[in-house]
Amino acid sequence: MQRLNTLTGHLAQAPELQSRLQAQVTSSHPSAEQKLSTVDNFPPNKSDFYKFDLFLSEEEKQARVTARAFATEKIAPEMVQYWEKAEFPKQWLQYLKDNASTFGGSFLKGYGCRGMSLMAACLTVMEMARVDASLATFYMVHCGLAMESIYLCGSEEQKQRYLPAMAKFDKIGCFALTEPDYGSDASSLRTTAKKVPGGWVINGVKRWIGNATFSDVLIVWARNMETNQVQGYIVNKDAKGMTMEKIQNKLPLRIVQNAHITFTDVFVPDNDFLALGTNFATGVGKALEISRVFVAWLPVAISMGAYDCALRYLQERKQFGAPLASYQIMQEKLVRMLGTIQSMYLLAERVTRMVERGEAKMSQITLAKAQNSLRGRECVALAREILGGNGNVTDYGVAKAFADMEAIYTYEGSYEVNSLVTGRDVTGIAAFKNAYKPKSSK
Ligand SMILES: Cc1cc2nc3c(=O)[nH]c(=O)nc-3n(C[C@H](O)[C@H](O)[C@H](O)COP(=O)(O)OP(=O)(O)OC[C@H]3O[C@@H](n4cnc5c(N)ncnc54)[C@H](O)[C@@H]3O)c2cc1C
Repeated sequence: MQRLNTLTGHLAQAPELQSRLQAQVTSSHPSAEQKLSTVDNFPPNKSDFYKFDLFLSEEEKQARVTARAFATEKIAPEMVQYWEKAEFPKQWLQYLKDNASTFGGSFLKGYGCRGMSLMAACLTVMEMARVDASLATFYMVHCGLAMESIYLCGSEEQKQRYLPAMAKFDKIGCFALTEPDYGSDASSLRTTAKKVPGGWVINGVKRWIGNATFSDVLIVWARNMETNQVQGYIVNKDAKGMTMEKIQNKLPLRIVQNAHITFTDVFVPDNDFLALGTNFATGVGKALEISRVFVAWLPVAISMGAYDCALRYLQERKQFGAPLASYQIMQEKLVRMLGTIQSMYLLAERVTRMVERGEAKMSQITLAKAQNSLRGRECVALAREILGGNGNVTDYGVAKAFADMEAIYTYEGSYEVNSLVTGRDVTGIAAFKNAYKPKSSK
């Protein structure tokens, strides 16, 4: 009793402590459950700490505003349910068609394409991926890889025939390079293209091909058996001999439809051979160079979205009678994320500007992709832990971001392989292959 009286006495003298205890009692009552915003109402971009817009042109600023509005208004309210079901929402194609004059063809020029600057295109992808990395991946594969392959390696007639419809999102494209046995070592791929009268016959297997299940136009990279070089072939969706299986049970980017595709004597007419890319470096390598710049932006974007969700959550969620945002440890984690986002952005921006000026080497692009995917992974892990239990469910934004980052770490060249490209440049020694030799069976 004596102790209780002492405590009551202290309380009387400490109104702040009293109100905290009162808040704890209230928050434990079911009717007073804390209200927490969910990700369908996506939070505003608050990670723009170094005022990125200050150094952007009017076109670039506008690209950000437009893509941000599109992603938060049209995509955010619908994305979680489709991510959970691992389905691509068909209506998103309609949203993109409705906005084709803004997004169609991205940075490509002519043929009905938008013709944005590369920086504006990267910022578009960034604002899309801040909200949903699956949408950004769909868009990059369609415009940045499939359309770009035709743009870089196709004849004038092929560009006229395919690009305008793709720029309107009337035809969707995918990019089939990876094979079950040749991922990082893609230049050794085994799919073959054999010359026959009037065209080519493709045989082989491709894996992980994004957008493929509903693509009209498949850009398939195969070994030309006449030259032994890897070249591109346009395969139309109805081609006989092509079978496709959706890859099930994928953890990240669940809205993106990845497929395992088998080609058995698939005929491609001569006018669908992408003859201008005469080997790996001048064909697929060129397309990957630009798309890797885009991918360097994805960790920036996903981390921005995770930061925005985490910041809002910390401000709304109370424990021990106070908002989580008021605790020093939480502020340090947030600021660590914020600092990482600033450095990732500056790296991505720098390499994009260098590419725009024609000054970037592949090893500089691979460094940006590798470095940002490494740091982005740390950022989303921080966001996930900041949200505690709710960091494990998709309702509050960060669990999906956490999962999606994993794919970015691996696709468009894994972290390791991109590092090896830069490593080769800085040391002068290629370290992709080692001295391992299989034991010969006697
Ligand atoms: C969600 C998703 C979407 C994708 N979309 C597409 C697409 O649209 N089109 C397409 O063509 N491909 C696509 N890919 C494939 C992607 O590009 C490959 O997964 C990637 O290149 C890695 O190849 P792999 O999975 O076969 O791994 P592997 O090459 O088997 O590598 C496994 C591990 O070994 C490491 N490793 C490999 N070689 C070395 C080495 N020499 N030294 C050190 N470490 C090494 C890798 O870094 C990795 O950690 C996609 C992949 C994913 C996950």
